[in-house]
Amino acid sequence: MQKDKSEILAVDIGGTKVEAGFVAPTGRILATARAKMIANRSAGEGLAAVREAIDRVLKNRRARKVRAIGVSVPGWVDSKTGTVLNAANLPCWKDFPLTREIQKHYRLPVRVANDAKAAALAEAAWGAGRGYRNMFYVTLGTGAGTGHVIDGKIYMGRRGPGGEGGHTTINFQGPRCGCGKRGCAELYISGPAIARNARERIHKRPTDTAVMLKFAGGDAANVTMEQVAKAADAGDALAREVLAEMAEHLAIWFGNIIDLLEPEVIVIGGGLADVAMSLIADVRGHLDRWACSPSHQQTAIVKAFYGAESALVGAAALWMGNAKSWSVAHARGQRRRKSSTK
Ligand SMILES: [Zn+2]
Repeated sequence: MQKDKSEILAVDIGGTKVEAGFVAPTGRILATARAKMIANRSAGEGLAAVREAIDRVLKNRRARKVRAIGVSVPGWVDSKTGTVLNAANLPCWKDFPLTREIQKHYRLPVRVANDAKAAALAEAAWGAGRGYRNMFYVTLGTGAGTGHVIDGKIYMGRRGPGGEGGHTTINFQGPRCGCGKRGCAELYISGPAIARNARERIHKRPTDTAVMLKFAGGDAANVTMEQVAKAADAGDALAREVLAEMAEHLAIWFGNIIDLLEPEVIVIGGGLADVAMSLIADVRGHLDRWACSPSHQQTAIVKAFYGAESALVGAAALWMGNAKSWSVAHARGQRRRKSSTK
């Protein structure tokens, strides 16, 4: 494997931009290019934006070494067909055959997966989950995505949407989530959830928070997750309450995950990884009440290795589930190249 000089063309599709890049079999990003994502118009315009980013990076001389394409998408993907079933931030695509469309144009093998699942594979292959056989990845940011990697392979369930933990309900009387259910974990542990919790508390007890309100320019409506974290650091009582509640919700959620799957490690990524890691001692304390597995404290909880580039590297990791799949990509890419140059 180490002698294999082939590269994967990785594509990270987001709601506002598309990033394409070459990733080496070591997980290193070698070159990237970007294009603006056109998410709100037709399916064809969305695809054209993706092709623009790919075509830009293919101008690089490294393009010769590309053997396969991996794509990560923030939504539900059918893993058997590579169809984007539904993605909240990509309204242009509903039941859209993304794998087929990209494959048709570039004549290389293509794999498409949900971005959190892809990021989970990147952590398992080259990041904080390396060396563990059973890893559960969570990414916390504007939402909560998850991926479960067992023996180097991502768990997809029956057709791809399996292993999605962000929308497991932890409070059946909770607020309605964007997914249609009530009280999903995402509503208690994501950035917007923490900011909303803070705003509600300020509304009820404005005199209990000086620092948080100051950071928000005196207007509770402007409070963000970052300000909550900063205010808690500065000793603001209300901000600390908000984070203490987040710690308990994380423990309830992790307790369910640990009892159900008993992973060796939970890897935390995303924009809120640092905040979540700062709460781990409290989370561990609460876990004794929220996990019943006798060995629940033996599940390690660590911070992810990859940051903002996790979905891009993850797209390449779709071909890295095991060494074999990378070489299969290599062989298939060579065959296709030979036949396309005839
Ligand atoms: Zn939900």
